[in-house]
Amino acid sequence: MLKVKDVDLFYGDAQALEDITLHVDEGEIIAIVGANGAGKTSLIKAIAGIHAPSKGSVSFRDQNITQMRSSAICELGIGQVAEGRQIFPSMTVQENLEMGAVIKRARDKEAETIERVFDMYPILKERRTQAAGTLSGGEQQMLAIGRCLMGQPDMIMFDEPSLGLAPAIVQEVFHTIHRLNDKGHTVILVEQNVAVSLKLANRAYVLENGRITLEGTGDDLLHDDRVRQAYMGL
Ligand code: ATP
Repeated sequence: MLKVKDVDLFYGDAQALEDITLHVDEGEIIAIVGANGAGKTSLIKAIAGIHAPSKGSVSFRDQNITQMRSSAICELGIGQVAEGRQIFPSMTVQENLEMGAVIKRARDKEAETIERVFDMYPILKERRTQAAGTLSGGEQQMLAIGRCLMGQPDMIMFDEPSLGLAPAIVQEVFHTIHRLNDKGHTVILVEQNVAVSLKLANRAYVLENGRITLEGTGDDLLHDDRVRQAYMGL
């Protein structure tokens, strides 16, 4: 479904990604794990068309999307739930959800999808006329996921969805990711919460200083001594 090949990405002179090659098959959950500053968000930006790679290519369903605008990439069915949620705080919950459906592929399905999101998260329905900035952190994460779903994505990239949330809410977010995958969404999950994401993922890649240093099934990496020592304190 997605192929990233030999990608380099720079911010000015600073190199954030080096020679990244990975693939995602239809229906998989792929975890990208690594420490702060390893390049995880940069990888999402390269795939989403937010920051173009200086070398290498990204293709989605055999179409080269390397230099495509981010709006065109959304139209192909790649959605993302950004780090820090990035909802519009002064707009209502409902308006935030409607913003997710402005792309062409989603417009016709707006009404039925908003009902689907409200079924998934009844609290958002209760609060639909409330300013989004007044929601709790967990509710804002639900809203960010709901807004992404409004765009009818086939593949969803989650950037640190557990960041800053209470443990019970973190569990709920990971449960949602599992359910969305069951319903047919392919998932890329970027996380510092290494143990939980490896348990959820079919396969995973470890990023260190902008390079992929390990890859394997979630289960293999969960039992890999290097991963256990570096990321789980074991
Ligand atoms: P985090 O978990 O902190 O978000 P990350 O693994 O997602 O980390 P990136 O945000 O991709 O890492 O950052 C990779 C490197 O690129 C880091 O050294 C970071 O300081 C640098 N970087 C990120 N964004 C920019 C930017 N806009 N300008 C300059 N350097 C940047």
